[in-house]
Amino acid sequence: MIRFENVTKRHRGTKNPALSDLDFEIQRGEFVFLVGPSGSGKSSCLRLILREYGPTTGRVVVLGRDLTTLSTRKVPYFRRHIGSVFQDFRLLPNKTVFQNVAFSLQVIGSSRPFIRQAVPEALALVGLDGKEKRMPHELSGGEQQRVAIARAIVNRPQILLADEPTGNLDPATSADIMQLLARINSGGTTVVMATHEAGFVDQMRRRVIELSQGVVIRDESKGGYGDTTSLPNLAPGPERGATAAAALTAVLELQRQIAEGEDVGAVAAEATHVPVAPDVAAPEPVEADATVGETAASSETTEDGATVGAVAAEADGTTAAPGAEPASAPTGVIDLPPIDLVELGIDEEGVAERLGLEGNDDEVGPTA
Ligand code: ADP
Ligand code: MG
Repeated sequence: MIRFENVTKRHRGTKNPALSDLDFEIQRGEFVFLVGPSGSGKSSCLRLILREYGPTTGRVVVLGRDLTTLSTRKVPYFRRHIGSVFQDFRLLPNKTVFQNVAFSLQVIGSSRPFIRQAVPEALALVGLDGKEKRMPHELSGGEQQRVAIARAIVNRPQILLADEPTGNLDPATSADIMQLLARINSGGTTVVMATHEAGFVDQMRRRVIELSQGVVIRDESKGGYGDTTSLPNLAPGPERGATAAAALTAVLELQRQIAEGEDVGAVAAEATHVPVAPDVAAPEPVEADATVGETAASSETTEDGATVGAVAAEADGTTAAPGAEPASAPTGVIDLPPIDLVELGIDEEGVAERLGLEGNDDEVGPTA
């Protein structure tokens, strides 16, 4: 799903490369911590995945696309499949919570009925129902980050990138945000989270890629799927800090709830054991990526025809991408199945182009 092949990134005007010879692959459904001290290259890594810039040498392949050869014209479409959140939230200060989340859908030409349904569902998922009309400055830091997360996932991206998402938050709020990211991951979204707070991630049954001065010095998967021999210690030592302990406990509790089939929105009392659902990180077949790439490529040639279809669908009050319709789960939990590129792209691309929104993604996309 994300593959770095001998990637070196040298920023202009710098002597040492920010990243040196990175070589790793992240599978669909994984939750990966990218850790390392400030300046070790975490953000550069995420920016390469987002194709904010390309590598100096090597190749970055994301969702079956070789980003080194992806044309600039296609970048905004590519980025629709990736949500991102940042340490500083990056909300539009003069828009309400609802508008902030809706904006990313409007820009890609989603229908009004779809927006009216998808935005409240995304806000409910992040625990912000009832706050639709608030302005960002009326919210706490944690709430603002929830809005940013709702905005990042409202279009059901296959990948969620989080760059120090808890960096500006207190320990308890950080734990909430971690829990939220884990919940999103449990719905099938691949999550890559950069953090310099390396202490607590060591104990979690998640993959950790550690960078030091642009070099991978560790790449560890925690336990195996169904492997319960290395259960994390539920009582982190005092040296790991309050953030670490709170976040760890929250995530473990959530994993337990998921594994036992409970409503993960409910508050449960204790965390006892932590089996990992086997389908959470099922390896991705290589062929799937190839198919996705081909489909995306062929969509180019049918854009005109697809536009007509999309407009007709909107007139019906349906959306251009039936596969991306919000699902209402009976438990009250909003499930977030990953969307196939095949199901997305074609019609929406036509609409976006008609609206002259193509290439305008920078304003509100993951790089906003
Ligand atoms: P981290 O996110 O782990 O703090 P970064 O990826 O931001 O690390 O930075 C890695 C190295 O690359 C640092 O030395 C930083 O100064 C440098 N760097 C990052 N972005 C740029 C840029 N746009 N121009 C020049 N140097 C950069
Ligand atoms: Mg950074």
